[in-house]
Amino acid sequence: MTENTSPDPIERMFLGNAVFRETDFLPNLPYWRKIVLGQQPKILWIGCSDSRVNPERITGSIPGELFVQRNIGNIVPLQDWNFTTVLEFALMKLKVEHIIICGHSDCGAIKALDNEEDSDYYISIWLNNAKEAKERVDVKIKKPETPEEIRERYRLIELENIRLQMEHLKAHPLVKKTIKERPLFLHTLYFDLLNGRLTHVD
Ligand SMILES: [Zn+2]
Repeated sequence: MTENTSPDPIERMFLGNAVFRETDFLPNLPYWRKIVLGQQPKILWIGCSDSRVNPERITGSIPGELFVQRNIGNIVPLQDWNFTTVLEFALMKLKVEHIIICGHSDCGAIKALDNEEDSDYYISIWLNNAKEAKERVDVKIKKPETPEEIRERYRLIELENIRLQMEHLKAHPLVKKTIKERPLFLHTLYFDLLNGRLTHVD
C-alpha cells in the first residue's frame, strides 16, 4: 500500500485512478468487460461508513462481489428509505444469498453513543437505533475506570451492537419474506483495526 502524497485530495484521487487503470483495469480488461453486462453479487455487506473499514479491501473482494450499504455505526434501521431500498434491491432483484453485518474496533459511532454527545443532533437521533446495545452492556459490567476498561467497554458495545442490528435485520419484513421463500444466510462479523483480522461474532 503506498500513500499518495499529493497535497490536493481530489488530485490524489485522479492520480490514483490513473494508477488503477494501468495496474488493475487494463490488465483485467476481459473481467471488466464481463461485469459491464451486469452485476451478480452474492453478498450484501452492511458496514460502518468509517474510512478505515473498506469492505472490498479487508476481504480481498473484487468489483461485482459485494453489494454495499454503509452508514454511521453499521445500523439496521427499521424505518429508513435508504436502507430499505438497498435491502429490497439486494433481496428481490439481485437475490443475494448472504447478508453480513460488520462492526469494527474504535468505532466513533459507539463512542458517541456511549458518551451521549448531544452536539451532534442528527447523529444522536440516528444512534437511538443502537441504544439498546449500550443498555445491555450497562447491566453486564461496572462503570469503567481505567483506559483499558473504557476500551473494553467500547468493544463490548461494538459487539453487542452487531448482535442488536442482526435482530433488527431478522425482524425486517423483507428478510422475513425472503427466508420463507429461499435460503438466506446471515452473518455477524467484527473487524479489528489493531490486527486487521475479521472474525465471527457469536
Ligand atoms: Zn464505525
